[in-house]
Parts: sequence; C-alpha cells; structure tokens
Amino acid sequence: MTDRKPRYGPADSLRTPRFSGVRTFARLPHVTEDLEHVDAAIVGIPFDTGGTYRVGARFGPEAIRSASALLRPFHSGSAVPVFERLSVIDYGDVPVVPGYFEESAGRIVEGLLPLHRAGVVPIALGGDHSVALAELRATAAVHGPVGLVQLDSHSDTSDSYFGVPYTHGTPFFHAAREGLLDPSRSIQVGLRGPVYSARDWEVPRRLGFEVLPATEAHELGMRRVAARIRDRAGSGPVFFSFDVDFVDPAYAPATGTPEIGGFTTWEVQVLLRELAGLDLVACDVVEVVPEYDVAQNTALVAANVVYELLALLARAEDA
Ligand code: MN
Ligand code: MN
Repeated sequence: MTDRKPRYGPADSLRTPRFSGVRTFARLPHVTEDLEHVDAAIVGIPFDTGGTYRVGARFGPEAIRSASALLRPFHSGSAVPVFERLSVIDYGDVPVVPGYFEESAGRIVEGLLPLHRAGVVPIALGGDHSVALAELRATAAVHGPVGLVQLDSHSDTSDSYFGVPYTHGTPFFHAAREGLLDPSRSIQVGLRGPVYSARDWEVPRRLGFEVLPATEAHELGMRRVAARIRDRAGSGPVFFSFDVDFVDPAYAPATGTPEIGGFTTWEVQVLLRELAGLDLVACDVVEVVPEYDVAQNTALVAANVVYELLALLARAEDA
C-alpha cells in the first residue's frame, strides 16, 4: 500500500526479553479502539462448548498468546520484515457465553464487525471450530460471500450433531446454507481418519466445495496442493480457516479430535508460504486444547501458523 511507518508493532525484544511483560500475541500492543492505522488484528474467541469430544479450547487464545512470545519480527523463510510492513494489534478476546452458541455467535459478530468495517483483517484464535460460523457471518456482512480455504482433518459439514445444528462439526454446512460462502471458490484440504459413513465427504462436494483428502494431498506434495488452493480460490476475498488437527498429532497433540496420518510442521510451512496472492480478508486458527499440551507444542504450532499468515499479509503490502 504505502511506505508509511506502521503505527502498531511488537515490543522490542532486544530491549526487554521476550518472556517479560503482559502476554499479548507476539508482544503486540493491546488496542481496542482507533482502528484507522491497523492492517491486521489478533482476536481471541474463547468458545469451546461446540466441541463434541475433548473440550478446553476456551483456553486456546491464552496458550497461543503465551507461546507466541517466542516469535521474532523477521520472517526468515520469506525474507519479510513482517511488522515493518504490517501494523498489527492484539484486539483481546471477543465476549462469549459458555454453553450457548447462538448467544455467543451474536456477540462474536458484534465484536468482529468493527474490524471488518475498518478494513482490518482479523486473525482469530479459537476456540473450537463452531466459531467459524460466527466469523463468517461477520465477514460476509461486509465482504459478501467469500471463498473458503479450510485446512482440517474433518469437513465440519454435518447438518447437525446429537440433533442440534451448531457444533464444531457443522459450521461450514450452515455457512454454505446461509449464503456466506462462494462454494465455487471453496476448498477443504487434509480430510482423513474414520468417519461415520461415506456420506461425510460427499456432503461438502454436494455443497459445491472442492475436497482434497489427506491421502491425495500427501501424494501431490505441498507445492502442488498450494497450486490447487490458489486455482480454486482465485482473486476474490478468502476466509482462511486452519484447524490445528490438520497437523499430525505427533506435532499438535492438544486438540479436540486428533487424527493420525497428518502433516508435519515443515509441510505446513511449505504449504502456507506458497499461498501468497490470496486475498485473505479473515483467518482463524482453531481447536487448540491446552489441557492436552505436553510441552506447549500445539500452542507453538498455532502461534507459528498465525505468524505465517501475518507474513502472507505482509508480502501483499508493497515493500
Ligand atoms: Mn474443524
Ligand atoms: Mn478437525
């Protein structure tokens, strides 16, 4: 955009050590007003009662912020000074009502709308994946129907679970039904593991999404997977949703519904770095359940995925 100096960036970790201070994402300033000079905002969505197995993702934002203290401002993989290019804040957490999806969704939408209206890209920290429906309601209210790029071992396109519509297994069914997505620009990557029936992966295809199961993605390799994503999403606005269970549980064990046969952290980095050019208008990283994290591994993976997304946004700015 311009070569202006960004207004918001992280604390200088060469002046005060990274383990000091109040934990915001990457030591960014906590800002909730004056969004004029902000390019991207980290937002916690600590709602986890859409989980159908392990719960506890309400503590995901806190854990990811804690692990993110390790991040440094220069992205060596893409040679990008992320926070020189991008003005980024930590917006804090949006309010939720534990146990009540619809009430929470309303508050999440209200919390995210000011960001979208100000042209800020929200990068949400989940929370379980049910929050994506609320995020998409806010995104589509400003941007219209968006393309979906979903990295996940599950399709999350059931119409209901236990006879109720809103869980972490259903957000993208309802998003499609509500007209929040452009299915012709939507793709799900990484699906794997035991399912209830063959129908589980037919539903997203019937909704009009492209589905690239993990078997196929492993065979293609990450660079060709990235090309498929870029081709599918095109140049229109994209909602990017990263369920941390995309990553193999060897690297990211602390998640709601882990599935083996997943991707390494290096594969994730290769894939994400190949996605430059997507018009990311909203992103999330969800399903971190810190209670099961043995050495902060999963939170560290999530923090670094957010950092890769920031690097993509930074690369979209003029040097
Ligand atoms: Mn999911
Ligand atoms: Mn999943």
